[in-house]
Amino acid sequence: MRREQMRKGYNNGEDPLDLSIEKWQDIVDGVGINEQASNCALCHDASIRNSNPIDCRGCPIYEKKKIDGCGIREYEKFMATSVNCTTKDCGLIRHCKKCREAGKPMLKLLKELKKQKELTCKN
Ligand SMILES: [Zn+2]
Repeated sequence: MRREQMRKGYNNGEDPLDLSIEKWQDIVDGVGINEQASNCALCHDASIRNSNPIDCRGCPIYEKKKIDGCGIREYEKFMATSVNCTTKDCGLIRHCKKCREAGKPMLKLLKELKKQKELTCKN
């Protein structure tokens, strides 16, 4: 899921959380890359709703963890791995095996948030 694709889905009214899950599923599956906030629908949504690109309020990750800028363990671990990755071509159109593995905790967290959201909506 690239930036343009994310924006298109967002503008079509897709749930930013679903789009973010799709982004990380793509990373883990080796068909997408992390462009940080640029291809994150949750960052995009929060920046629009709060009229401030660095205001995370309303993002389900922020609301759960109360940590700004995705400074959460799951994301930091992925970033530490991918930023320092020396595998050739990692992050150009896909991430290497090691980085894809490091993306799994983010995907897991987002899926948990989705599950919680569905439970809340039913009540
Ligand atoms: Zn890598």
